[in-house]
Amino acid sequence: MDHREELKENSDQLDYLAVPFQKPDLGDEEIAEVVACLKSGWLTTGPRTAEFEESFAGYIGVKHAVAMNSCTAALHLGLKALGVSAGDAVVVPTMTFAATAEVVIHCGAKPLFVDCRESDLNMDMDHARKVTTAAREAGTKVKTIIPMHYGGQIGDVEATRALAREHGLTMLGDAAHCCPAYYRKEADAPWQSVSSDADISCFSFYANKSITTGEGGMLVTNNAEWAEDARVRRLHGIDMDAWDRFSGNRTGYSVMKLGYKYNLTDIASAIGIHQLRKADAFLQGRRRVAESYAELLGDVEDVILPRENPNRIHSWHVYPIRVRPGKGHRSRGEIQEKMRERGIFTSVHWKPLHLHRYYAEEFGLKSSSFPEATRLFDDLISLPIYHLLTDAQIEHVCSVLKHTIGVSAK
Ligand SMILES: *Cc1c(COP(=O)(O)O)cnc(C)c1O
Repeated sequence: MDHREELKENSDQLDYLAVPFQKPDLGDEEIAEVVACLKSGWLTTGPRTAEFEESFAGYIGVKHAVAMNSCTAALHLGLKALGVSAGDAVVVPTMTFAATAEVVIHCGAKPLFVDCRESDLNMDMDHARKVTTAAREAGTKVKTIIPMHYGGQIGDVEATRALAREHGLTMLGDAAHCCPAYYRKEADAPWQSVSSDADISCFSFYANKSITTGEGGMLVTNNAEWAEDARVRRLHGIDMDAWDRFSGNRTGYSVMKLGYKYNLTDIASAIGIHQLRKADAFLQGRRRVAESYAELLGDVEDVILPRENPNRIHSWHVYPIRVRPGKGHRSRGEIQEKMRERGIFTSVHWKPLHLHRYYAEEFGLKSSSFPEATRLFDDLISLPIYHLLTDAQIEHVCSVLKHTIGVSAK
């Protein structure tokens, strides 16, 4: 048997337990709606996108929702709506995905990077304060802060608000992981949606996110002007959308401002309408997985599990564990490789931005300026977490992980 056949045979045997890192749950409802959309002949932004926007706004509890073809696009137009332009600076975490920072640069502005805190990997607000103050003292116009809620757990809302108020910053929430996520001020206070802590919040429906449209995103806000700005810019800056242009009597249109091609198709919205109806059920499923991991891995020596902070409802989009931090062990890459050999696919969220070549070189970033993110990154492994994960798969992940780190001890 050659190497390939052997691998295939092994993987066939493991198939019933193979654990992909992420698996979207797309049911008959999504499929039927996509088919209906195709049969209708209207494929681009139209009635299904309007319906998706309306139900999303209702679900999140905001006045306006503007659908985009990605969360990155929504973040970009969010910054535009908030008036971020050349010469401005925007505070961003280093422990995030590239999208959070690249949109700042696309606006001609400069990202100011902030370290994370160990407890939940969200922005360290003391560091954010230092970075903001130093930039302002140097004469830089710091305009906006982008809190990114790591894995779907809302960070230090109070401190972020206080900093924003003190320095007159607007807040753009990178809520890519937060469909849904909630917080409350104290134990007796009412739960609030993630969007209520920011001027504008952006969600992602990328293939591996908590609800998906394949590719897609949503900008939400209670401010009518910002919503309208994003709505116009998402389709070439034109003052009406394609549905208005081709379905009504309206003929002329005007390009009102610099536009982009960021609109969401009705095919994607057809999926989104039904995914959104299942968002709560999906969350319950991820919560079940998180609870099982906590139970099965809670007493494993040298494994640090993520936890839900008080007064937070975690969306559990990511389940980042840390293995044997600071102790001798196989590298994180080796642990991941050993698990992959047993059919378990893991990930890392994330290599901090200051360790990527482009950001390090372009902005002269040093590891020593971000000691926590630099240190924590080495040990982070994200375990699979999604509601389709079966109990058998969860047990398999845990037993393989235990075995892998057990034999990896030096
Ligand atoms: C996925 C992700 C994005 C980008 O979402 P897209 O819809 O793929 O553009 C932005 N920020 C964070 C934190 C993400 O994880």
